Amino acid sequence: MEVIRMIHDENVAEVGEERLTEQKLTEEKWQAIINNDASYDNRFFYAVKSTGIFCRPSCKSRPPKKENVRVFPNAEQALAEQFRPCKRCKPNGLRLPDDDWVDQISQYIDSNYGETLTLETLADMCHGSPYHLHRTFKRIKGITPVEYVQHTRMAKAKECLSRSDQPVADIAMAVGIPNASYFITLFKKRTGRTPAEYRQWIRNQSIAEVLQDGSKSKND
Ligand SMILES: [Zn+2]
Repeated sequence: MEVIRMIHDENVAEVGEERLTEQKLTEEKWQAIINNDASYDNRFFYAVKSTGIFCRPSCKSRPPKKENVRVFPNAEQALAEQFRPCKRCKPNGLRLPDDDWVDQISQYIDSNYGETLTLETLADMCHGSPYHLHRTFKRIKGITPVEYVQHTRMAKAKECLSRSDQPVADIAMAVGIPNASYFITLFKKRTGRTPAEYRQWIRNQSIAEVLQDGSKSKND
């Protein structure tokens, strides 16, 4: 997906050399962030590495982990570093197009599928309401965010099953479904095979392929 490049001219205060570089997260700035202090708005912006989003200090989004925070003197710099404007606080009036928002959420899921992901946690992380997230995601992707989470987990599970000898329970855990029997049920429902059967099937496929000199026979 393309990166948003929004040009804006407001609030680019001249503050010397610091203007174009990342700034240090001082205790003062950190306090401004966790207290949603509006008096710091336009004096700096903060981006969160784990979500790829940047905000005004006053944003009511949940407090980020301190080690994930990067501080920028202006929105341009945050954009130049590939961060995207928060849907909620719209730093510098930048509006994030829905496509980009959904893209951002998908990327978040792609790299955090091992965590507990509900519609609420996703909405929280991606700075929007659960209702709006659900609706917008479905309109753009054709599936709901929760379905997307499941697809991603199943795809990762298939990958692990075919490429490793990791026990099924470990794989279940790694893809964010700690309840192994639930994982097995879900996997079977999706693929028609239990994880163990799937693993065996993939191996047989590979053996068959070698025997047939790499030709044909590959359904699903
Ligand atoms: Zn925000």
